[in-house]
Amino acid sequence: MLVVEKDLVTLNQDIAGQEIGIPVYRIFDKKVVEKQAIETKNATKSSSQTHLKKVYIQSAVHAAEMQGSAVIFRLIEQLKHLTLNAEFILVPNCNPFGRTQRAGEYLQGRYDATTGNNWNRFYHYNPQDIEQFVALLTAEQIQKLKNDDESELITDFKSFLKQSLTSKLDKDWGVNTAQFLNTTLQEFAVDADLVLDLHTGPSSTRHIYSPEFLATSAQDFNIENILSIPAQFAGALDEASFMPWVYLSELMAKQGVTINYEVSAFTVELGSQENICLTQAQEDSAGILNYLQKNNLIDGFTGVAPVEITTTLLKNYKTLFSRHAGMVEYLAKPGDKVNKGQVIARVLNSLEFDTKHAIVDVKAPSSGTIILHYPSAAVQVGTQLFKIAVN
Ligand SMILES: [Zn+2]
Repeated sequence: MLVVEKDLVTLNQDIAGQEIGIPVYRIFDKKVVEKQAIETKNATKSSSQTHLKKVYIQSAVHAAEMQGSAVIFRLIEQLKHLTLNAEFILVPNCNPFGRTQRAGEYLQGRYDATTGNNWNRFYHYNPQDIEQFVALLTAEQIQKLKNDDESELITDFKSFLKQSLTSKLDKDWGVNTAQFLNTTLQEFAVDADLVLDLHTGPSSTRHIYSPEFLATSAQDFNIENILSIPAQFAGALDEASFMPWVYLSELMAKQGVTINYEVSAFTVELGSQENICLTQAQEDSAGILNYLQKNNLIDGFTGVAPVEITTTLLKNYKTLFSRHAGMVEYLAKPGDKVNKGQVIARVLNSLEFDTKHAIVDVKAPSSGTIILHYPSAAVQVGTQLFKIAVN
């Protein structure tokens, strides 16, 4: 029997103390969860045990990037009719701070309006935590790992990671708002096997950030552009989710132990901000369901018609900064393939309307795919005009 539970978790309050919450949905098959609980209870210390897989999906931590919330709606509709081999935690509109900060007609969604902090840069990952965990492993535990039984280590390491998050929030001196939001959300995600952080670009085509070691499996999302990033930490949720396991593997390899388990985590960019399309959300959710099915997390999904996929290394994902101020017309649209030297935008300068310099052409410095462009027509020198996945 499939169960859909809904919790309203309070993260923010207005100055009158009124609570501002986020809806958290949990979907699971009661039979599968009960069966798992019995297996775990009956497992002796020496026998290897499998854990019930967990999938965590959140959207709109950059509050104006809302297409992912429509996708979570579509996912919930469909998961109810599929066979679930995992527990699903789904959090649409996960940022109750950004969600309430408007600037004129727009949500000030990407940065905390007070501090300028990026809402997606304060997740917790501390390599020293991992070193400490490994240092405390007993000879017996290491021997077990050498005998190819890593199930206990996985469970222990997940508890350890959860604990290190809790202690971060408990500090006497508190944390900043973005850190509070990020670490609280991370508590839902920390023991997940798959983490999807749903975003959008400013004015953008669909693309997905995948760590290099998952770039092949990322193709199952059926998204045309994959940006393959090195396994490093810069504060985002996907990185904070896979890095502890990447580093654990590295440290254990030094002890002659191979860890086969890995956490999969991706940032999925679903079009443009300040916009939802429920029809497109159906297609977006199909890509996610396709990935889930290929990874045995669900069964019963019919599949997708595969699109042609281009994978670009992060070092070839280039930003074109404007060298001119003025009003810009974007000629190349997100998703367009462009050639080196092609005019992709023109900047209009009202001081030069009576001269031949009124319009300045912006040319593509290299051939590639336009992934996104700046959302506004008003630009200054240094504005990030385009991001291009260079061939
Ligand atoms: Zn974003």
